[in-house]
This record gives sequence, C-alpha cells and structure tokens, in this order.
Amino acid sequence: MLTVNAYAAPSATEPLVPATIERRDVGPRDILIEIRYAGICHSDIHTVRGEWGAVAYPLTVGHEIVGVVAEVGAAVTKHALGDRVGVGCMVNSCRECANCLAGEEQYCLNGNVGTYAAVDRDGTITQGGYSTHIVVDEDFVLRVPESIPYEAAAPLLCAGITTYSPLRHWKAGPGSKVAVVGLGGLGHMAVKLAHAMGAEVTVLSQSLSKADDGRRMGADHYFATSDPATFQTLKNSFDLIINTVSAVIDLDAYLRLLALDGTMVNVGAPPEALPLHVFTLFGNRRSFAGSGIGGIRETQEMLDFCAEHGLACDIEVIAPDQINEAYARLEKSDVRYRFVLDMARI
Ligand code: NAP
Ligand code: ZN
Ligand code: ZN
Repeated sequence: MLTVNAYAAPSATEPLVPATIERRDVGPRDILIEIRYAGICHSDIHTVRGEWGAVAYPLTVGHEIVGVVAEVGAAVTKHALGDRVGVGCMVNSCRECANCLAGEEQYCLNGNVGTYAAVDRDGTITQGGYSTHIVVDEDFVLRVPESIPYEAAAPLLCAGITTYSPLRHWKAGPGSKVAVVGLGGLGHMAVKLAHAMGAEVTVLSQSLSKADDGRRMGADHYFATSDPATFQTLKNSFDLIINTVSAVIDLDAYLRLLALDGTMVNVGAPPEALPLHVFTLFGNRRSFAGSGIGGIRETQEMLDFCAEHGLACDIEVIAPDQINEAYARLEKSDVRYRFVLDMARI
C-alpha cells in the first residue's frame, strides 16, 4: 500500500482539507500514475455535498486526471514508464455485459466503477484525483497526446468526453445547427468540439458577459437566456441542443427551440427532477435525451480528435489550497472555463 497526499471532504458541509489516502499495491495489470493535474468538475461538488445521494466520508474526488506513468505491473502492455496518461470518470467495469462488450463501459449493466465514491473490486471506496498518485487498471488509462499540455488536457477526461459523445451520437457536423446551454466547463468544450466537427454553433448563456470568449471558441451565434426575446427569435431552429446546466431550467422553453426531429440532450445533472410537458415534444416530433460520459475507446478517440484539431480546455490553474475558493466560484458560474489543480503544489 502506498500512502499519498490528497485533499478530502470530511463531510457534506465542511471545506475540503489536506489528507492522506491509501493506494493499493500495483497489481499485474495496474499502473501507478504520478498525477500532475486534476480538473475540478461540477460533479465533484454535487458528490461531496451529498446532492446526488449519501457518500462515505472522508472522500477525495476528482475525475479529470493527467500524469506520468511511474510504475507498471508485470502484465501491463498498453502503457510504459514515463508515458503521458489520463484517467476519467471510471476505473473499471464488468467487461462481460452487452454494453461493456460494445465498448460502452460507462453504461455497464453491472455498474461501472466510478473513479471516486464507488465500491471497488476489493470492497474499498474509490478515491479520486485530488491527490498525488493513483493506481488504475491499464484498460481504463488513456494516452494523452504529446501536443496537448498536461494542464489543458486534464478536463478533457470528463468535460471533453461528456460533450464529444453526444455530439457524435447525434451526428453534429456540416449542415447541423447545434446549441450549447451554459458556457462552463462542459459547455466551452461542447462549443469547441461542435465547431471542429463542422456544425453551426449557438451558445445560450445566462448573459452576454462571455460572448467574446464564446465566439473565440468557435460559436457562430451567442444569446442571453435572461432576455425573453431569445426564445422567440430562436424557436424551431436547432437540430441538437446540449444542455450542460448544473441547475433546473425551464425545459419546455428550450425544447421549443428544436426544429423538426431535433433532440435536446441533457448532460447537466441537477439533483432535482426536471419537469416537462409532453405536448412540447409532440411539436416538431422532438426528443429529449440524456448522455453519460463516454466509453474508453471513444475517450481515446476524443483525445486524438482534440490533438488533430488543436483543441484543449481553457483553464485557470490553481494550487490545491484554493479548492474551496474555486468551489464557491463554480457555484456562482464564475469560471473561465475549468479550474485545474496543480498537484505539484500540494
Ligand atoms: P459548470 O462549469 O459549473 O458549468 C455549468 C454552467 O451552467 C455555468 O457555467 C452556467 O453557464 C450555467 N448555469 C449554472 N447555473 C445556472 C442556472 N441556475 N441557470 C442557468 N444556467 C446556469 O459545470 P460543469 O462542470 O460544466 O458541469 C455541468 C453539469 O454537468 C453538472 O451538473 C455536472 O454534474 C454535469 N456532468 C454530467 C456528466 C454526464 O456524464 N452527463 C459529466 C460531467 C458533468 P452560463 O454562465 O454560461 O450561463
Ligand atoms: Zn465530471
Ligand atoms: Zn459491464
């Protein structure tokens, strides 16, 4: 066992504090990663606050992890010492069910093993990336392309794949009109990815304060949802809407912006139920869908796509002792556009 430095939440209501956690010995198919950077996802906040359900404390979160391979097990073939690697939202799955066999381990019918707050194979609770090291099965470790700086690559492991996967599944591309609701961590990557795929991209943000940034990221249009005229101007116009908002929004108002056969995909994960009127779906034969992260194969495809198109995340690098301040800012939508922890400063 390896004892490593980390930041952990002592409870749902207290600030995160320095802590130590145990990492298992490196097994035959395991990789020890020296973590360089870890992104702060809004899911980390939902989880530590217990908003999605009870979790065991103390808990270390973080599932946007990049670092260097520091040790490999005897049977490891996919990664070597010194490789630049990443770990996202899951560290294992059953590998036998239909969904795992289809390469969609995130939808493992026996439940994927989340990078944090999940029950691992050995019965322990998984602890995430706000730490200096992690031990992960090689099959759940990604290659981080050389051309993407470590710190700007970290958030791709969740924010990148969570938006790439639905954009691919619902075929964003030349000729399609895509709207992204919320320009935060997920939203800013949705804009960059949809633009790189060739779609016409519109941002729907609470205000116009980030419009210049949005256009620089590739948005063709930018509207404020605080202005009721936005919902008139844009009705019946989009093929795909990606909703990244972490809170409850008026779904019907956004669904009315879909064109014939359009789909609104919810990736935002507020704890509360989201009400909608089915009559809004009857109009234009609209669909309302959800999407959860992405499989390992698709996550690698996304990383390679970002390298090929020169994409990475817009980040604010912070020291681990600034986590609580970053959480407070994230809760006020004050982020440009992902906080990333520099683990060397722990
Ligand atoms: P984030 O950086 O906080 O971005 C969310 C954005 O939503 C904010 O920047 C803000 O954008 C907008 N927003 C926030 N509160 C709002 C409100 N009350 N009304 C309208 N708009 C609001 O969060 P994130 O890390 O991107 O995560 C977003 C959500 O996705 C979270 O719920 C997270 O748990 C979830 N998530 C889901 C998956 C999945 O697999 N489906 C994966 C990762 C994360 P503007 O300022 O531009 O309005
Ligand atoms: Zn996440
Ligand atoms: Zn499975």
